Amino acid sequence: MSESVVVAMDGPSGSGKSSTSRGVAQRLGLRYLDTGAQFRAMTAWMLRHDVDVHDPEAVSAHAEKPVIVSGTDPLAPTITVDGEDVAVEIRSEQVTAAVSPVATVPAVRARLLDLQREIIAGALPSGGIVVEGRDIGSVVWPDAQVKLYLTADAAARAARRTAEQGSGSVSTTEADLLRRDRIDSSRATAPLVAADGAIHLDTTPYDLEQVIDLVVGIVEETVGSKASR
Ligand code: C5P
Repeated sequence: MSESVVVAMDGPSGSGKSSTSRGVAQRLGLRYLDTGAQFRAMTAWMLRHDVDVHDPEAVSAHAEKPVIVSGTDPLAPTITVDGEDVAVEIRSEQVTAAVSPVATVPAVRARLLDLQREIIAGALPSGGIVVEGRDIGSVVWPDAQVKLYLTADAAARAARRTAEQGSGSVSTTEADLLRRDRIDSSRATAPLVAADGAIHLDTTPYDLEQVIDLVVGIVEETVGSKASR
């Protein structure tokens, strides 16, 4: 692809966004940004510094402090906070339980929004980027050429997440996903929402390779048709 492209990949937890985004970025030679990992890194910092994650004022007062750096190679994405690799820590139960309340705090969203836009702008000269999250097509990069909204049945999402984690029960994972969906969908600032013009893709019946094929086709068609106009 000669033109640079931003692919916004939104949807609820476990809809297949991460694996799909990485696979699509690899196939198309694009960078990759996991914005969920940034919210998790912010949350890990708050927990480490004994900030009460259920106190929005306390979280807000610290939102500017963590130095969060995301590596955007889809083959080996990285995330550090204050120079320390937190890739494992951000997937812990403690962080997973605390991330949605932290992500509702407007100061946290504003801080990460700046970071996200900086990373996306930085990726444009090298061809573009696939960005996954909850508000990418609606808030972070409304001009994204391709906007996708991935969904899947709650049971399928829970089964995938449990398999990824390699432990835990499917029913506990499903309850956790639904709890986060509720908080993410009902918050006042940048809720989980399908952006205007987003293509909805229910991934329940497909395996990963099929979803990657579908999305690569959509990106090539969109960018190709814009280029030939
Ligand atoms: O995608 P992942 O499950 O890692 O995201 C963790 C949490 O981060 C979500 O449940 C949501 O609360 C928050 N998040 C968000 N906006 C984004 C990405 C993630 O609020 N763009």
